Amino acid sequence: MATLSFDEARECVLAKVTEARPTPGVEQAGLLAAAGRVLAERVLADRDYPPFARSVRDGFAVRAADLPGELHVIGEVRAGENSTQEVGAGQAVEIMTGAPMPAGADSVVMVEHTTVDGAKVNVQRTLYAGENVSPQACEARQESVLLEPGRLLGFAEIALLAAGGRTQASVFQKPQVAILATGDEIVEVHETPLSYQIRNSNAQSLAVQVLRAGGCPSILPIARDQYDATRELVERGLQFDLLLLSGGVSAGKYDIVERVLADLGAEFFFDRVLIQPGQPLVFGKAQGKFFFGLPGNPASTMVTFEVFARAAVELLGGQTDPMLPLLQSRLAKDFKQKTGLTRFLPACLSSDGSEVTPLRWQGSGDVPALARSNAFLVTEPDRENWAAGDMIRVLLK
Ligand code: AMP
Ligand code: MG
Repeated sequence: MATLSFDEARECVLAKVTEARPTPGVEQAGLLAAAGRVLAERVLADRDYPPFARSVRDGFAVRAADLPGELHVIGEVRAGENSTQEVGAGQAVEIMTGAPMPAGADSVVMVEHTTVDGAKVNVQRTLYAGENVSPQACEARQESVLLEPGRLLGFAEIALLAAGGRTQASVFQKPQVAILATGDEIVEVHETPLSYQIRNSNAQSLAVQVLRAGGCPSILPIARDQYDATRELVERGLQFDLLLLSGGVSAGKYDIVERVLADLGAEFFFDRVLIQPGQPLVFGKAQGKFFFGLPGNPASTMVTFEVFARAAVELLGGQTDPMLPLLQSRLAKDFKQKTGLTRFLPACLSSDGSEVTPLRWQGSGDVPALARSNAFLVTEPDRENWAAGDMIRVLLK
């Protein structure tokens, strides 16, 4: 079975899901409900943007060739009004931001750059033709493509739909994602754990991450480390668009997830990635559905979802280009690691993003440290030492 580097594994997830992805179903959503959803239609410009040549400043509409000089003010045009005057040589029309340009004028001089004396305006500077004017259709021409399907709708995209008179948009249905935690030691959140048991926190963090990625999470009952029970629940999980398993993929005697999946005819694309946390990580397809076997340590589950499974949820939701933005920030202190793995370590990023401090933690089970962090440091596998002040990659949490 395959062991991949971080980059190779991410590339593999993107390629496999993109290649196989069925087009999701489509539904209608009102503008606010469409925010955060994925556009399912191509949106064309209903008219020119802007629909008329407009001033981008408060000032005077002029002919640039007349400047510098004193001009005769022949009238005024406000935003929301149509301009009726024609500006001739030596003339100007007072104009407000957003108002249509009067005929004859080619530029706007800002009011701050003028001295007004009755019907005269004095301008002691030059302008280039077109200065402070947005020509008709300079942003988009009528019938041109404004948005393509697959686009995640944020505030600017919603503004564009609104500008085009749309009160609804076609969006893709959310992918249904099954979450299956495994482990004999795991109890449900509402249960009282015995001294040697722990609560199922992974199903909750995964559900939050699925929601954030635009999916609809369903938490299945906990699968015990026993073949028949696990198999039954995995089969149930494979009826969803995507199955996320937590735990049971390491080399332990009771880590049976891979065996169950293999018996269900799974094709495995990789089962180990050179990252920390999260080395034993399984990605494959069974009965036509993709699955991830995420390692059960909470940090491993969170990180492997974020850097691999998240992209799969986004692609299954119809998004065309899942992103994984790694910022760069300055290390607040020296930092050392063993080479060989790409590491994702809990860290605190300063509020302006300029400085990052690695947090002390006790390893991949340390949920309190994860909750104290607001980011992960991302190391390069072939670098051993960083000094305070060096730039390092950061993944926001
Ligand atoms: P595993 O990957 O099954 O070997 O589990 C690795 C570690 O993660 C063990 O210490 C588990 O107790 C812990 N763990 C596994 N599943 C969960 C879960 N659903 N919630 C919280 N911790 C878990
Ligand atoms: Mg386990």
